[in-house]
Formats: sequence, structure tokens, C-alpha cells
Amino acid sequence: MSLALSGAAPAPPADAVDGVWLECIACEETFAPFEDVRYTCDACDGLLEVRYADPPTFEDFSGRGVWRYADALPLESGVSVREGDTPLYEVPRLEADVGVEALRIKHEGMNPTGSFKDRGMTVGVAVARELGVDRLACASTGNTSAALAAYGSRAGMETLVLLPAGKVAAGKVAQASLHGARILEVDGNFDACLDVVQDLAARGEAYLLNSLNPFRLEGQKTIGLEILEAFRDDYGAWPDRIVLPVGNAGNTAALYKAFRELVQTGALAPDDVPKLTGVQAEGAAPMVEAVENGADEVRRWDEVETRATAIRIGNPVNAPKALPGIRETGGTAVAVSDAEITAAQRDLAGEGIGVEPASAASVAGLRTLRAEGAVGGDERVVCLTTGHLLKDPDAAAAAGADPEPVPADTDGVLEHLRA
Ligand SMILES: *Cc1c(COP(=O)(O)O)cnc(C)c1O
Ligand SMILES: [Zn+2]
Repeated sequence: MSLALSGAAPAPPADAVDGVWLECIACEETFAPFEDVRYTCDACDGLLEVRYADPPTFEDFSGRGVWRYADALPLESGVSVREGDTPLYEVPRLEADVGVEALRIKHEGMNPTGSFKDRGMTVGVAVARELGVDRLACASTGNTSAALAAYGSRAGMETLVLLPAGKVAAGKVAQASLHGARILEVDGNFDACLDVVQDLAARGEAYLLNSLNPFRLEGQKTIGLEILEAFRDDYGAWPDRIVLPVGNAGNTAALYKAFRELVQTGALAPDDVPKLTGVQAEGAAPMVEAVENGADEVRRWDEVETRATAIRIGNPVNAPKALPGIRETGGTAVAVSDAEITAAQRDLAGEGIGVEPASAASVAGLRTLRAEGAVGGDERVVCLTTGHLLKDPDAAAAAGADPEPVPADTDGVLEHLRA
């Protein structure tokens, strides 16, 4: 099976360009990488992956940010606003409280537009330029639209974003708006927005930059590469497990691909690959359902609801890439309630780390799995936090304490503080 963890690097087909090509994960049909616009397989409509005849080892990486990993990417450089190089934080109180050997937080909210989507866009928008397209589009729960608007404007391209009306956090709409995207508010949920934008792309009206686009996931692989390098330098070992929120499962697929490519060159032993552990909100948990049932396919949920709007997704398009990743690494998936998500958001805030609700799902999921015994006390764990607190100021204000009115004099303030 083409998505197995072990195995040597593939031999390049005739249509490879400089050792890079696109390959269907279902029927193994191959395509030249930058000749035509293509998101899925011409033959069977399966998902495409970027493949490399010469995958990297750690020694190949130099420089800073996402483009430090150019040897693992389809281009040498991209449309950049200095994405990547996000911190891997220690959280000693939370680590002790959850009860694991080591816990680190990889905070992707520290990217230029405040989410990991920037890593995908620096590559995806560069590929769009390579293909010569001029109009970019995405469906979004918010962060993809903010990132697309920023990277599209940097590249001087027109951007269209389709958002589910009334379901996008305030910070994200503000970003898309100021960076100059045309914001189309759709009377429907995210999955309906994605259906429309896929249709626009199929008709040649715009270049699609959702995570269905295989080039975006290449940029997101760098999250996994940064985690491995930083954890090793910091701790002297690889992490046992990476816990991450799951929406369209793009990140789950991207991290798995990063590890697979390192295994292909022998840079990472198959047994050292971290267990990929996905977390969804109870009201939007089709991946968890599939993992629990041992299914190869995900059932689309038509009704989804959660305060964690970034993962309010019922039809995870990257499931065929992500399910093998969870299975082959010995990981799992778990659902958490909105109350548990908010509690985890407070836990992280108490360590000085400000995240939006979807991000906190990773920590909430780790707590659940640790309590159930599915995660051992001897494990070294990294939780991924995907977006910044300021993305969703309303959720942050609701999770935090209320302001206290005081008079405009010192004695009055002191009196209030003593009361
Ligand atoms: C996009 C997003 C997710 C979901 O990531 P997938 O790769 O689609 O699973 C999770 N959290 C935040 C903050 C996001 O913006
Ligand atoms: Zn195919």
C-alpha cells in the first residue's frame, strides 16, 4: 500500500520534474507537478500526493523557518512573510497535572497570521505563481481565509474566500478583510462552502487553496520536522506521541508524510515515529467515529456544532491520507466536549500560552486519553496548538474572568481590592 510507513523512496516516473511528481494515493497514477492545474486524480478522483525521488535527511536542513526544509519541499523558495520557527514551550505545571514524562506545546499561533495555515500558503501560493494562475480561492472556517488573503496579497493576486455566514471568529474575518480578500458569506456550513469552491475550481474560475491541494500539505509537513528537531535538541530523544486537533485532517496527513519521508531515507526509524493522535469536538467527530470503528472511510456528518469553530467540519477531505497515518503510527483519535476545550484553553493560558478554542482540543484530548489510561505516564508528548487566542476574542473573553468596575481614585481601588 502506497501509504505504508516503511519502504524505500520511490523511483521517479517519466513525468517527474527534477525528481518531483504528483501521485494518486488510490490508483498510483502519476502526473507532472507544475504543468496543469490539478487537485485530484484524473483517472479515479483520488487524493494526490507530492512524491520525491530523493527525500531528505536531517543534515539537508539549513536556514530558518519553513524554507529551512526546502529539500523536503517541491520548490526552493516561496511567497514568504517569515512563517514557521514557532516555539516548542515547556509547561511544567500542566505536565505534572496531566501526569506524563514530558509535555511540550508546539504553538502554531505564533505564525505571521496566527495559525499554521501560513506554512501551507507559503508553498501553495508559490505553486500558484508557478502555474501562472491569477485568482486564488478557498472555503474556510476562518484561518485559511486569513492566511490566503495575506499570502495572496503579498504575491499580488486576487483572492476569494467563502465563509459560513455567522460561524467565523471575529479576528479571522478582520484579517481576511484588511488583507484584501473578497469575502463571500455563504448561507451554509463549511462543508457546503468547500463544495462550492471545489466546483468553482473545477470550472477553472479560481485556483483552490484548501488542504485538498497537495502542495499546501507539503508546507505543513514542516510542523513535524520542527517538532522532531526541537524536541531532540531540547530533550535528547524523540517524542512518543503528537496530539493535534483535527478538522479536515490536513495536518494529520502532513505530519505523517513528513515522518514517512524521513523513514524512507533512514533518518528516522519506523519505531521512532511519534504516534499521531487526533482530537475532535464531540459535535463534529467523523474521524473519531471512523477510527473507533476501524473503518477505511469516513461517514460525512451533515450537522456539526462546536464552539471550536476551526474544527467545525463534518466531511474531513484528507481522511484517506490521515487514517493510515493514525493507524500506521499506532496512534488513536478521541472526542472532547466544548466544556473540556474551554478548560484546556484556561490551562494553557495559565502557562502564558494564548490559544483559540480548536487549539486547546489537543490538550483536552490528551487529558481524556491519560485519564482513560490510553496514554501512559511514561510518555513524552507534544500537543499542537493551531491558532492564536486573538483569533477568537469572544471565546477568550467568555472563558476568562469579567472586568471589575472601580472608581477613578486610588483609595477606591484599594477598597475594592480588599473587599
Ligand atoms: C485549520 C485549523 C484546524 C484543522 O486542521 P486540519 O488540518 O484541517 O485538520 C485546527 N485548528 C485551527 C486553529 C485551524 O485553523
Ligand atoms: Zn487515481
